[in-house]
Amino acid sequence: MKKVTWSHSALKDYEGCARRYHEVKVLKKYPFQETEATRYGNDVHEAIELYIRDATPIPAKYAQFQPVVDAMLAKSGRKLAEYEMGVTADLQPTGFKSKDVWVRGIADILVIDDDNLTAWVGDWKTGNNRYPDRDQLVLMSLMVFAHFPHIRKVNSALLFIVKDDMVKMQMQREQAEAFWWKYRERVARLEGSFSNEVWNPTSTPLCGWCQVTGCEFNPKH
Ligand code: SF4
Repeated sequence: MKKVTWSHSALKDYEGCARRYHEVKVLKKYPFQETEATRYGNDVHEAIELYIRDATPIPAKYAQFQPVVDAMLAKSGRKLAEYEMGVTADLQPTGFKSKDVWVRGIADILVIDDDNLTAWVGDWKTGNNRYPDRDQLVLMSLMVFAHFPHIRKVNSALLFIVKDDMVKMQMQREQAEAFWWKYRERVARLEGSFSNEVWNPTSTPLCGWCQVTGCEFNPKH
């Protein structure tokens, strides 16, 4: 059976439409299309990363984001930017690109407070805050627990820096196992698609924006 690796966005993609996931992510039939929004998001992420890592000043055009970044940096603990984490299928920490990696995630900002055994993990969001996806916070918290075995509690936040909003959650280490089981069930469906080679389409109003023009549900077909 093909070894399946996944991430928060890959699993969401698969659950949104298995056929699209297969054609775009697995078969790579359609090259990634950069949009104005993704270009902007990447640029902001890079500017904040450089500021956290090397104190490179945030460009004036992004000055509005400085206070929220500084608020995160004011928290006590080690500050890590764009921190890559991999976890194996038996929930051991591993490298982001290691052969035994099962799930991957990158923390935009991670603050490890070794004295209080707590952590903060945050994700900079340059998009809309209308449908915040807390699931991402769950996975980030689980990965932090796997990589930092002494941490007892993880605070996490989706930081909507353009909308000046924040969606927070908190997880205790004791809750982690139950959350991992939910992911195992979801990933088992993804593994089932690979082993049975069944990639069912899920038609929604978003089909009009889908890259898979060969699909009968795509209005551009
Ligand atoms: S057009 Fe719709 S159903 Fe077809 S692959 Fe794209 S998202 Fe899925």
